[in-house]
Amino acid sequence: MREIVHLQVGQCGNQIGAKFWEVISDEHGLDQTGAYHGDSDFQLQRINVYYSEASSGNYVPRAIMVDLEPGTLESVRSGPFGQIFRPDNFVYGVSGAGNNWAKGHYTEGAELVDSVLDVVRREAETCDCLQGFQLTHSLGGGTGSGMGTLLLSKIREEYPDRIMCTYSIIPSQKVSDTVVEPYNTTLSVHQLLENTDQTYCIDNEALYDICSRTLKLTTPTFGDLNHLISLTMSGVTTSLRFPGQLNADLRKLAVNMVPFPRLHFFMPGFAPLTSRGSQQYRALTVPELTQQMFDTKNMMAACDPRHGRYLTVTTVFRGRMSMKEVDEQILNIQNKNSSYFVEWIPNNVKTAVCDIPPKGLKMSATFIGNTTAIHELFKRVSEQFTAMFNRKSFLHWYTGEGMDEIEFTDAKSNMDGLVSEYQQYEEVNEFEYFNEEQGVEVDVDEN
Ligand code: GDP
Repeated sequence: MREIVHLQVGQCGNQIGAKFWEVISDEHGLDQTGAYHGDSDFQLQRINVYYSEASSGNYVPRAIMVDLEPGTLESVRSGPFGQIFRPDNFVYGVSGAGNNWAKGHYTEGAELVDSVLDVVRREAETCDCLQGFQLTHSLGGGTGSGMGTLLLSKIREEYPDRIMCTYSIIPSQKVSDTVVEPYNTTLSVHQLLENTDQTYCIDNEALYDICSRTLKLTTPTFGDLNHLISLTMSGVTTSLRFPGQLNADLRKLAVNMVPFPRLHFFMPGFAPLTSRGSQQYRALTVPELTQQMFDTKNMMAACDPRHGRYLTVTTVFRGRMSMKEVDEQILNIQNKNSSYFVEWIPNNVKTAVCDIPPKGLKMSATFIGNTTAIHELFKRVSEQFTAMFNRKSFLHWYTGEGMDEIEFTDAKSNMDGLVSEYQQYEEVNEFEYFNEEQGVEVDVDEN
């Protein structure tokens, strides 16, 4: 068995993590205590990827819940699936990070990190053949962002050959908590560049737009945004959790999706889009699903894929449908839009099909795109960063925790470097030119 250890850090990380476990427990036929009541062998065949089996026969999520204050974890524990988690996998402090990355990464978080690593080790030791880790967190706050990335680097150090995957929530001014979010995000991206193999960029800006434009919700709440995230996370983990050939583990997915190590930031998408509690009144056809999953309006990152090119794409279809029709539709999309797929990676669209649909839908399609257009997201954050950094505003909160200004400029130039790398691959037939330039790019990495 190839196990995954899951960590959820900070308020956002824990709220979306809790939803993820609710949704997948339901898909695998587990009730709120982890007892199995399902009806298909498929549900149990690869259950060990995400769950350990207790001596009682119940299934326990291989999940570690971390925060620097107790509130969110108390809600998780008293929430619908709170009892399914192992009680001593809740690790928390009491000081809080006050939306300050430096507190999460260098001071308060650094004090708690060893107790988290003890739990990580305990979970890793009981694995038969650990494939890697996944982390859910926001980049805009202090704990998920600062301490989350501290955990990434510590885990990377101890398990250098395991795959590291993150579900990273990008802040948006439309759903904003604080002004320093661009600082926290830039400092985090700097870390994600070096310490993850795959990062799903889930952008609150895109989620907000989907809620208000497509789902017509007048005042979207975190609950509404998190519903979209749980659909997406359930979709992108389908091939890890259910039997099938394509992208059956994190490493195979990384091999298919990541042509260059730094370019591992994915744009997820989902179809059909539904709001919480609503049911789709009719099943979509395969052509409709395919059309929608490639539509900008269905993307969970506020970037327009038509402003860039796809390096690689994975699509995951769920439900009963004709494989032949799926293949035809995907081929059709590629042929009609060939200029949007880089020609120097042949066959860069892969498709997985899983019989079991998500709850409440007859069919769904999940999209994972490695598109150069993701640079728009990093550019947005970079511009917001610069606006504040030019005046050095709010820096004292960080230097007060012992940080140096240099770390800010390094993080910013690393992220800007990423933007130009994406832009260079965007240009048609400019591949050779880029190769010559790579020496320069590598220097930027070393920061
Ligand atoms: P932390 O506890 O210090 O990690 O801070 P938060 O997780 O509260 O980080 C704040 C950022 O996360 C802001 O950009 C919020 O908009 C966002 N955020 C907080 N909670 C949620 C949530 O439940 N869902 C989503 N989508 N975003 C959240």
